[in-house]
Formats: sequence, C-alpha cells, structure tokens
Amino acid sequence: MKISNEELETLLQNKVAEERKITVEIIQLLEEVSRRRIYLERGYGSLIEYCIKKLGYSESAAYRRIAAMRVAKEIPQVTEAISDGRLNLANVAQAHTFFRKEEKQRKEKGTEIYSVPEKMEILQNLERKTTREAEKVLLELSPNTLPDEKVRLLDAKHTQVNLVLDEELMTKLQEIRDLISHKNPHPSYAELITIMAELSLEKLRSKRMASLKTQSNTGAGVAAQEALTSDVAAREDLACNIVQQKNPASRVAVRENLASDLASQESSASGVSTRENLSSKVGSQKKIACCIANQLGTAPKSETMAEAKRSRYIPAAVRRRVWLRSLGQCCYRDPLSGQKCSSKFQLQIEHRHPWAKGGDHRIENLEILCSAHNHLRAVQQFGERNWASLEN
Ligand SMILES: [Zn+2]
Repeated sequence: MKISNEELETLLQNKVAEERKITVEIIQLLEEVSRRRIYLERGYGSLIEYCIKKLGYSESAAYRRIAAMRVAKEIPQVTEAISDGRLNLANVAQAHTFFRKEEKQRKEKGTEIYSVPEKMEILQNLERKTTREAEKVLLELSPNTLPDEKVRLLDAKHTQVNLVLDEELMTKLQEIRDLISHKNPHPSYAELITIMAELSLEKLRSKRMASLKTQSNTGAGVAAQEALTSDVAAREDLACNIVQQKNPASRVAVRENLASDLASQESSASGVSTRENLSSKVGSQKKIACCIANQLGTAPKSETMAEAKRSRYIPAAVRRRVWLRSLGQCCYRDPLSGQKCSSKFQLQIEHRHPWAKGGDHRIENLEILCSAHNHLRAVQQFGERNWASLEN
C-alpha cells in the first residue's frame, strides 16, 4: 500500500466512522426484524439465536447489538452517541444489564425505578470510558449489583458454573451438609449438588409414577404408563447427552427444561401447558377421559368423540404421545428455509387447526411449540389485535 502514514491513518479513521454508522443502521434494522418477529418466522426461538445462527455473530457480539437495540428503543439519543464514537457497544450493553438488574431489584424493594433522564445521565457518564472504567461507574452507583451467572465448558465432561447463592440457600446447604456428615464430612459443592439432584430426581419420578397408578386401570391408563416409561427414558437420554453438547448454555437449558418439565408434570395432570390452559379467559376446562380412550379404541360406545370433542382438556396420555413424537422440542419449521426451531424453552401444545376454529385434540392436529412460536402462530391465525385481546 503506497500511501503515507497520515493518509493511512485518515483512511482507517474514516473506515471506523463508517463502521460505527453501519453498526447503528444494523441496530435499527434489528429493531425492525424484532418488531416484525421475522426471526420467529425463520425458525429461530429468539432474536439472539437468529443473530448467532443466521447472521453469524458471536454470542457476545449478538448480545451487545441486541442490548444496544433495547436501550435505543427507550433512549433514541444513544444511537447518535454510538455513531459519533462517544459510546461503544460494550458500554451500552453494560448499561443495559445494569438497568435491567436495577429495575428488578427496585421493583422487589418497591423503590422508584430509574427515569429516562436518569438513564441518559448514566449513559453520558459512560462516554469515552474503557469497559473497566464503565464497570466502576456502574458499581459506584449500585455496589450491591450481583454478578451474572456464568457457565463455561472446561472440557467434554466438565462445566464450570459461577453463581451467587443467597443466605437462605446457603443455610439450607449447610443443613444438608450436616445431615450427610456421617457419610461425607466435607462434601464439595459439586458433591452436594450431585446428592441433591439424585434425591430430587428419585422423589419426582416416584411421585409421578404414583400419580399414574391412581388413574383408572383402563387401556388409556396402561398406555399412559407405557408412554411415561419411554418418556422418562427419552428424557433421561436427553439428560445424559447434556455433557456431550458443545454449548454450555444449551446444557443448562436442557437441565432446566428437564427439571421444570418433571416439576410441571407433577403439579398438573396435563404435563405440558397449552395456550388454552394458560389463559384463564379462554374458558373452563372439563375433564373427559373418553377422549384418549377413543384414541386407543377402548371407550364405551356412549362416550364418543362427538361428546368429548369440544372439551378443552387434552388427556395426559395424548399429551405424552405428542411430546414423544416431538422429542420434547419445538416443532416450528420455517416453510421457506426448512430451519427448525428445536427450542426446549416453555414448551406448549398447539392445535395446528386452531381449537377456536373447530380444531380437535387428535394427535395429528397437535404439536409442541415453544412459547415464542406458539405466540407467533396465534398472531398469524388470529391477528395481533385479536390475540392481544384474548391475552388481556
Ligand atoms: Zn420455537
């Protein structure tokens, strides 16, 4: 490159300024993609997943852009500060995390949350600061801000988890330590979690089996038990696969989903929540066991699908069969690219042909969707305004 040092530096500075302007344009385009829910239509469970898998950003780069997008939505002036180089994305993202935590803590305490002018002042204090300097500014504002949980894959079999435990949980852990001290006087935290996980799983599984035994000894009951056995096995396989997954965050999600799924199946006969179940306004539920018996051909003649067809209740055994078919994952697929969501977050059962439009509980009319795609499907089927009025 045959140019002088001065020319080289000018060229570089111009390109950096250009890059900042493009970054702001990207943030504004992301906002529009988010508003139109295009990432959901394309088969991604979240905007950050879309940014990583579709746009090719690293997790941190995607997070910084989405954080800036959210701050800019509330405080549009932030884009100008990014564009002219006063604020960098890392500091805006730090501020976003800080505002979110502060708002949560202040709401819990019942104290006033930051106003927009206060947030603008904080952002101004982060201008032209390094990441560490910005961190100090925010820590001075709220020394009690707790660090985020961090999950890092160490090797194929080990994951490092950094988390903050409150006093109440520490007391409970100490009590567990005392109770097992005759067997293991000085357990590590990993050993403690292992013991707690084994005890919890044993208890949750036996409770679940016990609840099934109370079901009538019909073909439906037997089928449900069989389905449950393989269901548990399938999810145990999923759990075993946790350590083989490359992404630590997804391993945590699998664990959380496994635990919450077991817990939710304990607390309700349904096992998987449905949009109808979640919305109290959609109507009362009426339990009609002959629906599944019809599916299995064991229903008495008087108990026909015709009688059961308008009950909102989806029998537990049907739910389990739908769950097994979907492998416990969101089944949404982008019709254009074929991209499948596969999220395991807040799974719900959805009627392909909507219940409100006469769809029934036949297994082929049911599918598992994550909450984001369930919402997208509802908006597509009923329109944003109608869906919002159902929700509210
Ligand atoms: Zn999904």
